[in-house]
Amino acid sequence: MLLSCDPNDKEASMNLVEDLTTNAKQVQKLILEEILTKNVDTEYLRGFLCGRPDKELFKKKVPIVSYEEIKPYIERIANGEPSCIISVQPISELLTSSGTSGGHPKLMPSTDEDLDRKTFLYNLLVPVMNQYVDGLDQGKGMYLLFIKPEISTPSGLMARPVLTSYYKSSNFRNRPFNRFTVYTSPNETILCSDNKQSMYCQLLCGLIQREDVLRVGAVFASAFLRAIKFLEDNWKELCSNIRKGGVSDWITDPGCRNALSIILRDPNSELADLIESQCNGKSWEGIIKKLWPRTKYIDVIVTGSMAQYIPTLDFYSGGLPLVSTMYASSECYFGINLKPLCKPSDVSYTLLPNMAYFEFLPVENNNTSQSQTIQLGRSTQVSDHDHIEYCSKDDDEEADQEAVDLVEVKLGHCYELVVTTFTGLYRYRVGDILEVMGFHNNAPQFRFVQRRNVVLSVDTDKTSEEDLLRAVTQAKLLLEPLGCLLTEYTSYADTCSIPGHYVLFWELKMRGNNQLLPDQLYYPSTIMEECCSRVEESLDSVYRRCRSKDKSIGALEIRVVDHGAFDALMDLCVSQGSSLNQYKTPRCIKSQEAIQILESKVVASFSSKKPPFWEPFTMEAK
Ligand code: AMP
Repeated sequence: MLLSCDPNDKEASMNLVEDLTTNAKQVQKLILEEILTKNVDTEYLRGFLCGRPDKELFKKKVPIVSYEEIKPYIERIANGEPSCIISVQPISELLTSSGTSGGHPKLMPSTDEDLDRKTFLYNLLVPVMNQYVDGLDQGKGMYLLFIKPEISTPSGLMARPVLTSYYKSSNFRNRPFNRFTVYTSPNETILCSDNKQSMYCQLLCGLIQREDVLRVGAVFASAFLRAIKFLEDNWKELCSNIRKGGVSDWITDPGCRNALSIILRDPNSELADLIESQCNGKSWEGIIKKLWPRTKYIDVIVTGSMAQYIPTLDFYSGGLPLVSTMYASSECYFGINLKPLCKPSDVSYTLLPNMAYFEFLPVENNNTSQSQTIQLGRSTQVSDHDHIEYCSKDDDEEADQEAVDLVEVKLGHCYELVVTTFTGLYRYRVGDILEVMGFHNNAPQFRFVQRRNVVLSVDTDKTSEEDLLRAVTQAKLLLEPLGCLLTEYTSYADTCSIPGHYVLFWELKMRGNNQLLPDQLYYPSTIMEECCSRVEESLDSVYRRCRSKDKSIGALEIRVVDHGAFDALMDLCVSQGSSLNQYKTPRCIKSQEAIQILESKVVASFSSKKPPFWEPFTMEAK
């Protein structure tokens, strides 16, 4: 069932949404039937269904799996075996997810047809937005979009991030002219592989066309704020280019130069003066409204881990609406926000029942305001919010039986999302925890609660408690020759500065006695800086890419705290309801109160002095 939607036809598109959501149950039934009928003879499904494309059998026999279980199949395809081991449709490329496995990005299968499914969802965003904001056809969108490195697998299949795949596709490059999606960034500037040149040129184009801009955005809030920071660092040069009517010499990418030669034809000192006067102002508060005065909203995802950027976005935008339009992943595009102008905290996504077959694993949500510990699987963190304990089943067999259908989820309950796609994923745990907030017709609407097992995230990085432990374990080895022990640690993502960075609080003591470390003399800064670097080097490749290539994460910092700091943290948690018996040091803290307690005990702080090594991963033929 591959639907299309004309973004110019608001009525037909919204009718389609009504039909899909009203008939959610029937659509899901058809989708599963279609996937099973087509793929029943793949090696993967044959092993469970013996050629019978039957829903009951599917639910009974096909296990709910995580990446590790399907990885061997994906690797076989990457090494040249035919797609039909998992999918009847040819796998056209592999999408590198920001989740990692063994330190490398997970690889998700994709097909040509799936690109059309994604395009359908993108097209639907246009009429939905037009329901709430008038006149978007009277101007342009300044969307700052970027591509990332891609590699070729031993079989010659391309492996790259889903958005790189989409931006490079003909669906995006030749997107049919429609009056609502006119952008300030020429395709060539988006498709430039040098992110710095790309960013510079896209901002330049956006500034030149500032009078036309009606909305600004990027995919995630972190990327948009990085652009604002880039503007802060480069506005003088941008203005000088506008003043003289020519782009700087360091822009060497031919596509960018060509595109700019059309947009930046004549010197425009009036515009340069105007931009300069705004950027030179005392404060950058509300700068977006000042530079792009007709902007009606900021289109960036601010749900999930991106919510940490809302205050900074509010500062720069002067309170423009923040719009999270869609919820998607490398595995599958899931759904859209039907009330895009709602407050960020109220955002819920309606899963579109034609995108995939969705199932939901109930997740225990013990919502009490007693304590501040968030437990999710094995992860523990302190939050600003109420105490929520999410325990998803790790026992797959039990989980298989418990998974419920899209239309069976209950209001107020939390679930982990499981998908069966047209691209060869069957009952695959996405790893996202969602809460049912309501229904649109018969389709549930979900709040994104959090990613399973992720404690730290600044950009697209997803660091779990285990990842952090592994990295800290490596780093603390450097302290051993000093006779120094790491007795406690925790962390938080500091996003007050752009880019954000990881902060680790470390409590140290000397081996063999209770002697504390009174001052920096005992831990030479070179060693501590080396510890910071070692942590970074030991984190996964998505972290290292963000830090070294994209520069979307700043240098990791270790703040050494005085003896007793972690006792004070424990006292806080216990005073807020944590059980003293069961208390475990949270490996990530979020509440301001907890951060402040540790902050007040900091005796020294160190940052890594060099970005960690990163190169696109390679796949060797097996
Ligand atoms: P990736 O696998 O790199 O494509 O990242 C997909 C993941 O990003 C999803 O599974 C979510 O965890 C997260 N994500 C995507 N869209 C949203 C959203 N609208 N709100 C919160 N998190 C999101």
